[in-house]
Amino acid sequence: MNTGEESENKNLAYYRKRFAELNVSRTRQRGSAHHKPILLLSIIDLIAQGIIRDNRIYVSDDLVKTFNKYWDVLGSDSHQRGLHYPFWHLESDGFWHNTLKSGFNGSKPKTTNKLREAVEYASWDNELFNLLQDQNSRSELIDTLVAVWFSSNKDDLGDILQVNQDFENVAQTETEISATTGNLDTEPRFYLTRSAVRNAVFRKAVVHTYDYKCAFCRLKVIRNLTQNIVDGSHIKPFSKFYDNQINNGISLCKNHHWAFDQGWFAIDDNYRIIVANDLEEESPNARTMKDFHSETILLPTLDQYLPRLESLHWHRLNVFRA
Ligand SMILES: [Zn+2]
Repeated sequence: MNTGEESENKNLAYYRKRFAELNVSRTRQRGSAHHKPILLLSIIDLIAQGIIRDNRIYVSDDLVKTFNKYWDVLGSDSHQRGLHYPFWHLESDGFWHNTLKSGFNGSKPKTTNKLREAVEYASWDNELFNLLQDQNSRSELIDTLVAVWFSSNKDDLGDILQVNQDFENVAQTETEISATTGNLDTEPRFYLTRSAVRNAVFRKAVVHTYDYKCAFCRLKVIRNLTQNIVDGSHIKPFSKFYDNQINNGISLCKNHHWAFDQGWFAIDDNYRIIVANDLEEESPNARTMKDFHSETILLPTLDQYLPRLESLHWHRLNVFRA
């Protein structure tokens, strides 16, 4: 890494890279430790909720509670949970700075209470803290963390889907909790941030299911783990239905995602493409959209992930304009 980097280079792309390349301990038996990305997700959540307002991150009860909530969903059984570990070691990643208490004796804290005795607070690079005030930057950074750290490896779809399933269960529990306690002040906001994470997992799982190809045109372009040209798209929009099941998803390139959302094409009950008949197209270097009319889309290998007919039907009725 170039240590002489100018501060103007510390933009969103820079921090996405830092988040993707966190120094974590890895072993063959236990895989990567996920403490650091879980701590980052927890802090971003508290910033989104307005609970952390200044660039001083204390070892607060809120932070411990949020970290534990995320750990329940994303942590692995093969690692011990513990906020002290990532809080202490993030210093080595360059954007995190611990301010130690004056009487600190110098030994590495082994519990969260010991951490409180050692560290006054931590702060992030100001550039990063400022970026996190913006909702879009927050989403991008959450996406990066989820894509890199919580997708397991590429051959391990089961894990991704399990995470997605766990999220569904947690969301349900949270809704029940806020309904019974009437704690409407904090739970829904926590839920909103949580759903951003859940959406990131959904998108990742859907494109993986389709092998990173567009179901419409089969296009596949990948640059690295976090950048590829297809989107995991919702068939029935998330904003209306909150449906993050894989079978409410379809993998589409940017162009065909947009066209699908505009209702320029739909998919029938036999998974064949129906293209609106009023498109004016020129496509000297690729097939036109109309040329795909009545072709079958690319389908996932596992039946349980096939686009749900009920969702496709809803899209034909409510979005598609023939
Ligand atoms: Zn496409």
